[in-house]
Amino acid sequence: MALRELRIDGDPILRKKSREVENITDRIRVTLDDMLETMYHTDGVGLAGPQIGVLRRIIVVDDREEDGPGPLKMINPVILNREGSCLDIEGCLSVPNRTGMVERPESLTVEYLDENGEEKSIEAEGLLARIICHEVDHLDGILYVDIMEEEIFPEEGED
Ligand code: ZN
Repeated sequence: MALRELRIDGDPILRKKSREVENITDRIRVTLDDMLETMYHTDGVGLAGPQIGVLRRIIVVDDREEDGPGPLKMINPVILNREGSCLDIEGCLSVPNRTGMVERPESLTVEYLDENGEEKSIEAEGLLARIICHEVDHLDGILYVDIMEEEIFPEEGED
């Protein structure tokens, strides 16, 4: 596995729409592993293809909750059954040193292919649902700062 360079807001690749994966090749599998490694290295909870310059519909997610599902690699994720609404703070590895309040569904279902091409479907709520929405937005060139309700600035004295 290898660390990949993160693309930062202002890089036009973050604004492009990613293509579906048609063949799950070893190259895709290696990319997913690299994405997980890069995500853990930067202390993130999710990462999408465009953030490392790969315009394919692939994301990795790990909510780090004790009762969470652990690391997830998702190919061609599709979000269904968005329910409820929840406003909470969000940040992004591609938008350093900023945070904001973003409205997301309270729960959802996501369908995707795993790295072996098997069709999967999971229900997610709370933080996990938020991360999945955030990462899928990346695949459509959307950053959370485009849709946040308000920016949250750190208190005086914090960094
Ligand atoms: Zn992000």
